[in-house]
Amino acid sequence: MGEAGEAVRSEARGEYGGLIPVRPATSKLVVCLRGHRLDLDLYDKLKPYSHRYRLHGTLCEVCRAQEACEPAARRLTEWAHLDVTVQHPTGTAPGNGLVLVAHPPAAGTLAGRIELRLDGTLVGAVTASLCAGCRTATLDYVHVAAEYRRLGFGRTLVAAAVARAPSYRWTAPLPDGPVAQSFRARMAMRRPGQRCVHAGAVDSPR
Ligand SMILES: [Zn+2]
Ligand SMILES: [Zn+2]
Repeated sequence: MGEAGEAVRSEARGEYGGLIPVRPATSKLVVCLRGHRLDLDLYDKLKPYSHRYRLHGTLCEVCRAQEACEPAARRLTEWAHLDVTVQHPTGTAPGNGLVLVAHPPAAGTLAGRIELRLDGTLVGAVTASLCAGCRTATLDYVHVAAEYRRLGFGRTLVAAAVARAPSYRWTAPLPDGPVAQSFRARMAMRRPGQRCVHAGAVDSPR
């Protein structure tokens, strides 16, 4: 295995400050991150609290036993839940833990931005253009800082964007590069069709 393999394995050992994965909070939590059923009362349900993120989470006992036997396995036993409908206005966001901060579109544009911050540090962001006239939305851009990837931050940001207009028809362009395309291909979103007429109207005064 080359350097890439080494990097994957050192990440799997949790050398990123013990950060656990994050998922958008959902009431219908049925399986763990490895697909083990959580709804059959096979094991006690543990509800850990992440002091790092200041978020509640879930722990899978099956994964815990499996990872104890396989130290090189990715750490998926425990994950934290972030309520993506809680998006703080900039300036009033808590300075500790993992939080979403929303910047509404600037005057004359349709593109809003949502940031993910850990202890006040920007770790990821998503920009999306929403049109109330067409009831459509386009996910323009998702970015997660390199040292915070493979933790679910990207999909949490996408869920935060969609939570702003869940009834809209969402689209997303095809990004460059295999990593971005792998992420993109997991989203149930078509590519954008023709440009929205309202976006043109907004742009024209410039
Ligand atoms: Zn599990
Ligand atoms: Zn429109």
